[in-house]
Amino acid sequence: MDTSLVRKMEKAKDYAAQQGRVTLMQCQATFRGDNSDHEISYESGEWSCSCYYFTSRRECSHTMAMQLMLSNLMKEPVRS
Ligand SMILES: [Zn+2]
Repeated sequence: MDTSLVRKMEKAKDYAAQQGRVTLMQCQATFRGDNSDHEISYESGEWSCSCYYFTSRRECSHTMAMQLMLSNLMKEPVRS
């Protein structure tokens, strides 16, 4: 294998272990809930989910789960 590519892979492993180097700015995802799929988005520090519960409460188990999964990549506190 190309030695420069090997060095890049080693550096990538080092970077991957330093999650503070990355700040999540936005994302979109489909969350497979127990009963149906939900569309989730994160942008400008705000979470959104297509489920009924989120509409009335501005948070839900889907966005909370996403925050937990991505907490190492987010600059903001875990809860929106
Ligand atoms: Zn939801």
